[in-house]
Amino acid sequence: MKQSQMFIPTMKEKPADAESASHRLLLRGGFIRQNAAGIYSYLPLGYKIIKKIETIIREEMDGTGSQELLMPAMQPAELWHETGRWDVYGPELMRLKDRHGRYFALGATGEELITSLVRDFLNSYKKLPMSVYQIQTKFRDEKRPRFGLLRGREFIMKDAYTFHDSAESLDKAYWDMYHAYCRIFERCGLKYRAVLADSGAIGGKDTHEFQALADIGEDTIAYSDSSDYAANLEMAAVLETDGSEKGDSLPLEKVSGNQEISGDIKIAAHWFKTRTDTVVVFIKAEDEINDVKVKNVLNTDLIEPLEDVNPDPINPEKDVLIFADNALKHLSRTAFYNKTEDATYFHLDPDRDLSIQQYDDLRFIKEGDLSPDGQGIIKFARGIEIGQVFKLGTKYSEAMNATYLDADGKAKPLIMGCYGIGVSRTLSAVCEQYHDDNGMIWPKSLAPFTIHLITVNPKNEEQFKLSDQLYQQLLNQGYDVLWDDRRERPGVKFADSELIGCPVQVIVGKKAAENIIELAARREKERVETSISEMASAIS
Ligand code: ATP
Ligand code: MG
Ligand code: MG
Ligand code: MG
Repeated sequence: MKQSQMFIPTMKEKPADAESASHRLLLRGGFIRQNAAGIYSYLPLGYKIIKKIETIIREEMDGTGSQELLMPAMQPAELWHETGRWDVYGPELMRLKDRHGRYFALGATGEELITSLVRDFLNSYKKLPMSVYQIQTKFRDEKRPRFGLLRGREFIMKDAYTFHDSAESLDKAYWDMYHAYCRIFERCGLKYRAVLADSGAIGGKDTHEFQALADIGEDTIAYSDSSDYAANLEMAAVLETDGSEKGDSLPLEKVSGNQEISGDIKIAAHWFKTRTDTVVVFIKAEDEINDVKVKNVLNTDLIEPLEDVNPDPINPEKDVLIFADNALKHLSRTAFYNKTEDATYFHLDPDRDLSIQQYDDLRFIKEGDLSPDGQGIIKFARGIEIGQVFKLGTKYSEAMNATYLDADGKAKPLIMGCYGIGVSRTLSAVCEQYHDDNGMIWPKSLAPFTIHLITVNPKNEEQFKLSDQLYQQLLNQGYDVLWDDRRERPGVKFADSELIGCPVQVIVGKKAAENIIELAARREKERVETSISEMASAIS
C-alpha cells in the first residue's frame, strides 16, 4: 500500500490519558481510535493485525475439528432468564428493549445462545461430540474500562463450545483446545503461561487461564521455570492446602447456585480470625434469617468476635457472606462467588459446613517456595488473561433442558465445555511485549506489513523511480509492503516508521542513483548500506 493514500493518523505527542504502553502506542501509531470509554475503532493498520490474529485462531480452531459459525450479538432476554443469568450477571450485561418492549442482552458471552441453538439437534449420543466456535464482538459494561483494548466494553472474542456424552470425551476436547491455545499464542509470538485458574461465576470446575506475561497485567501468577506448575495466585493458595488432586474438591466448591446481590447490604458485623488472616464477614439477609445457626456454619474456635456475634441463624439459601478484600487472596477460591471490584460474594452450600477450621493448615505460596510438585522454585509474575478454557459440565444444559438420548434411550443433559480468547486483548498483550520507547516492533507473524519502504525525498526523481521499482519488485516477491511515498520531512517519516513498527525498513535516499539503499531491522535500528542486487538475500 502507498502510505500517501492510507488512513494512518499517527500522533507525535503522547496521549495524556493512556496509562499503558499498548494503549499509548496503539493510539500513537494510528492503529486504533477511541469512540467512547472502552469502545474503539480498529483503523486499517490495527484491523490488519486483528485479522492476522483471527486467521491464526481460525486455523488452529479448524485444526481441532471445530466448526465456525456466527451468532448474533443481540440475544433475546428469555434465554438469559432460562439460566437465571439475566438476574445474576449484574450491571456488566448490557441490556436493551426493542420497539415491542422485548428485552435483549448484548452478548457478554454465548453459552445460552449456543445451547438454545443445538439443543434440538443434539438429541442423540450418535451426534456427539460436537465443537463449534465463532469470532464475534462481545459487550461488557466493565466498571473500569481501561488500558485501551485490554479492558474494553466492546471487544472481539473467539468463543468455542463443545458438547459431549461423557467426562472422558469432554476431557479430550478440553486438552485439544488447551494445546490449540498454546499454538495460537506461540504463533502470535507471546510469552505466556497456562495457569490453573478459578472458575468464577461461570460455574464448572476444571479451568486454565492463558496469561501473557506483562507488568501491566491485572493478575498475579505463580510459576516455576523448571516445573509444569503454574497457577493464578489466588488459586495457588488453595492448591497448596488441598493435598489431593489439583483443583479437586474443596469444602465449598460445589454450591447450589448463584443469586443476584441486590438491595442494601445489612451488616451483621461478624469478625473472625484465622491463623493466617483476619477476615471480616458481613452477612446480608433480605428475609428473616432462620435455619442454620451461625455457630454451625463457622467454627467458633477460630472466631474471635470483636463485636456481638449476631445470634440470628443464617439461611444458607438466601444469605450471602461478603469477605473483605484482604480475605479475598486467601479464601476466595473456596466457594462459589461473584467477584466485583469491591468485594467477593460467597454463596453458601446448604449441604456443607463452612468451617473456617478447614483452612487452619493453609499455607500460601510465596516467592522462593518449592513448587507443589517439588520440581522448581516459585516465582511471581504479572499476567494479562488472554484466554481461558473451561469444563462447564451440565450447568447450562440442565438449566436449559438440553438433553440427548444415550445408547439405552435415557435422556441425559449434554456435557459442555467453553473456551474463550480475547482477540482484541491479545493485540494489546502483543504490544505490551513488543515495543520500545519509539513505537511498535511487531513479531513477523502479526506485522501489519513486513517491509516499510521509505522514500526519503519522493520529489527527487531518482529516489522515486527506484522506490517505485522496488515496490513492484517486493510485491511480486510476495512481500506485504507499505511504501512511504509521502511528501513529508524525513524526520516525520522515520518517526512514523518507528511507531508503525514493521520488522524491516528499506530506505531509499541519497544513493538511489548508485542503486544503493539502506536496510534496517526495526528491532536493531542499525542501518546497513546494500546494493539493490544484494537486497533480496539481505531481507530474507
Ligand atoms: P477478566 O478476568 O480480565 O475480566 P474474564 O475472566 O471476565 O476476564 P472471560 O469471561 O474468561 O473473561 O472471557 C474470555 C476472554 O475474553 C478473556 O480471557 C479475555 O481474554 C477476554 N476479555 C474478557 N473481558 C474483556 C474485556 N473487557 N476487554 C477485552 N477482552 C476481554
Ligand atoms: Mg471479567
Ligand atoms: Mg478472569
Ligand atoms: Mg476468564
